[in-house]
Amino acid sequence: MSYLVLARKYRPQTLATVLGQEHVTRTLANAIASGRVAHAILFSGPRGTGKTTVARILAKAMNCEAGPAPEPCNRCASCIEITSGGGADVHEIDGASNNSVDQVRELRENARYMPARSRHKIYIIDEVHMLTTAAFNALLKTLEEPPAHVLFFFATTEPHKIPITILSRCQRHEMRRVEMPALCRHLEEICRQESRALPAESLALIAREAGGSVRDALSLLDQVLLIADGVPSHAAILELLGVVDREAVFGLAESLLEGNTLGALDTLDRVYDGGHDLKRLYADLLAQLRDLCLCTMGEEARRLLDHPAHEMDRLVAAAARFPANRVSWLFDRLFAEEASVRLASEPRLALELIFIRLAWARPPLPLAELIEKLDDLRRSIGGARENEGAAPRQWGPPAADAPAPVREPDLPRPDVPSCRFTAPEEENEAAAPPAATPPGQDPSGASWDTVMAQVKKQHPSLASPLEQAVVRSHTAGRIEIELVGSEFHFNLVNRKKNLAVLAKIASECYGEPLQPVLIRRALPADGNGTEAGAETGALLRERTLRHPMVEEALRLFDGRVIDIKRLVPQGGKDG
Ligand SMILES: [Zn+2]
Repeated sequence: MSYLVLARKYRPQTLATVLGQEHVTRTLANAIASGRVAHAILFSGPRGTGKTTVARILAKAMNCEAGPAPEPCNRCASCIEITSGGGADVHEIDGASNNSVDQVRELRENARYMPARSRHKIYIIDEVHMLTTAAFNALLKTLEEPPAHVLFFFATTEPHKIPITILSRCQRHEMRRVEMPALCRHLEEICRQESRALPAESLALIAREAGGSVRDALSLLDQVLLIADGVPSHAAILELLGVVDREAVFGLAESLLEGNTLGALDTLDRVYDGGHDLKRLYADLLAQLRDLCLCTMGEEARRLLDHPAHEMDRLVAAAARFPANRVSWLFDRLFAEEASVRLASEPRLALELIFIRLAWARPPLPLAELIEKLDDLRRSIGGARENEGAAPRQWGPPAADAPAPVREPDLPRPDVPSCRFTAPEEENEAAAPPAATPPGQDPSGASWDTVMAQVKKQHPSLASPLEQAVVRSHTAGRIEIELVGSEFHFNLVNRKKNLAVLAKIASECYGEPLQPVLIRRALPADGNGTEAGAETGALLRERTLRHPMVEEALRLFDGRVIDIKRLVPQGGKDG
């Protein structure tokens, strides 16, 4: 007896046994049970996912002597005829070779006659997108008003090539790629029925190569089982299929994540010596990093991964070894080079160059570490300023999308969208009433600077809104402080808790119990638009760019300054 290939030998004969297309088979079974099968059905999807197989089962179910029933009996004359590939009333047509208008006209003529023996005359047209436009037009009329006994089942891998007029007259069912775990189980079951055993990694390899196509998987399995009578070795299977071992892909990704460039180059060398396609290796590496990235995103993201169980465990373990931002950074860098590898005439050199470049690139710091560094920086700058004894400017967070510095829990800062910059000596001179006492000097002779130094030390977040404060008067038990600037800052300082802090510090510094009273003076209007304003703007810009904190932020984020905005606080919500 001639050898029957596995794909044919194990072709499903009932809807329930079709692999991985439950969403289609369930709907069809319900349609048959309720007598509502459409007269034209289009099955689309990747090759080898069961389009014609389902069409045939449906044909059997509709014409079964015991039916129409959701599952054909597979024993009656009609079922047996269809299983063996045809019958008087079921016509399987290859759309690629029967695509002319004449052939469709002939089909249309024949369709008018009643079926010979069965309930329905069924036309299964495979690769229907290959029909010519004229042929589609000829078919259209029949699809519009089909005789009651005619059913059309179309199958295609390229539904977008079918005219919309045809599509709109068909009920569509989309077949999916079969997922790896299901395909592996299917292969394992077939091996068992064939009394052959293959290692799980080999089955996974075959399933991966098949890319979700059951037919491709079974063809590969056919080939693999021919290698040896007993159990073919995994190495022999790798060689036969000409694919890179998963070990190499795992190893390569891990070497790169560890920063072990030499290890990565070694693996590359081995794969090259094995005669494998390095462009394919690079594609596998990208897929591996994508999978690792998903693994770092938690349980929920893992449902997007399609791997057999043993590989999933390994992937999750590998991902757990590296910080998520490092994995995504590497994925990003490698993906950026994808085109250069794909188009390279010497893929080996291209890959080596990429790996070496990666060795020189600085991987990003974890976000928490960055925030800590920025915070350190802010503290050290604050300290230096305190030592100098002069505090001409104050600084908010550097940029909206940069991580915000750690905030004092009791005193939230405003979310400032860009470099905040106020320069009292430039902005306030003109508007300051002549009677105001200059900052740092108190009518009583005691030093407001001492108070500010203590505030900076004990409550740095309060120091910022107080930086431009001026002492207006100081009488027994009462100190009047004028705040220049936004209502927001005023309200912030004017909170009961903060006033208490200020009272305590002021009392200590002046050596007498003092109750602070706040007075607010609004900022003068922004000078932008006037000549003087423009001049001030240029000066501010230069100072901003030269500020050590800006310089350090640029270095840390490898960034550049796009725009500098001066914030004119409008007052607003508190907190
Ligand atoms: Zn039957």
